[in-house]
Amino acid sequence: MFIIDSHCHAGKGDGLTGPWDTNASLTKYLQRAKEAGIDKTVIFPPIHSNYAQANRALANIIQKQPRHFFGYAFVNAAKNKGQILQMVRLAVRQYGFCGIKLHRYDARISREVCETAKVLVLPVLYDVLGEIQSIELFAKAYPQVNFIIPHLGSFADDWKAQSAFIDKLVKFPNIYTDTSAVKRFDLLEEAIQRAGAKKVLFGSDGPWLHPGLELEKIFLLKLSPSEEALVLGGNFLRLANKQ
Ligand SMILES: [Zn+2]
Repeated sequence: MFIIDSHCHAGKGDGLTGPWDTNASLTKYLQRAKEAGIDKTVIFPPIHSNYAQANRALANIIQKQPRHFFGYAFVNAAKNKGQILQMVRLAVRQYGFCGIKLHRYDARISREVCETAKVLVLPVLYDVLGEIQSIELFAKAYPQVNFIIPHLGSFADDWKAQSAFIDKLVKFPNIYTDTSAVKRFDLLEEAIQRAGAKKVLFGSDGPWLHPGLELEKIFLLKLSPSEEALVLGGNFLRLANKQ
C-alpha cells in the first residue's frame, strides 16, 4: 500500500513564539515516517513572516529529495494581499508545488486566495482555528475550489468546534479534512461514517507530532481496503491533480 502523509511542516520559522513558527526539522520525522511505512509527504513551511522566502526555502528542501515530497505554497491572506496569484503561480511553475496553505493565525482566508486556487486549480489547506461558521461562506462562494480544513477544524481539540465541523464536512461537497492531531477518536470515526472516506485525508502535523502514532489512528478505524486507500493517499492525489 502506498501511504502519503498530507500534512507536515518543514523549514525554519522566524517568530520564536513556539514550535509552530520556529523550527520544523525533518531529521527525526523522516526516520519515523520511514519506519511507519509512509512513502511520501506533503510539506509546507511553518508560520513565517515572509512566505515568499519560506516557500523558496521549502523548494530547496524538496529539490534535495524530490521523490519524498509534495509542496504547498504558504500565503498570508492579509500581508500578501495583491500578490497571492503571483506568489502561488511562481511556486507552482518554478517549484512544482501543488496546493495552497494558509492559517487564520496569520489572517482569515480572502477572495483573493480562493480566486487564485480557482484559476490555478489547486486545493486549499486552511486552518480555521476553530472558526467553523466561516466555512459555510467560502464553501458556497467557491464551489469549484476544494478546501481541506485540518484537525477536524480545531488543533486545540475543541470538541464543540469539531462536532460542528462534521456537519459542514457532510453538507459541502468541496469541504475535506485531515486526521492530524485529532485526539477524540470517536469524532474521527463519526466524520468517516457520516461524510465518507473520500472526505478525509491522513495527515500527521509532523514534525511536531509523530507520524507513526498518527498513522496508527487510521489503521484503528478498521476501514475497508478501498476506503483506507482513499484516506492514506487516494484523496490527496485526486485533490492535488496527481492522478
Ligand atoms: Zn500543521
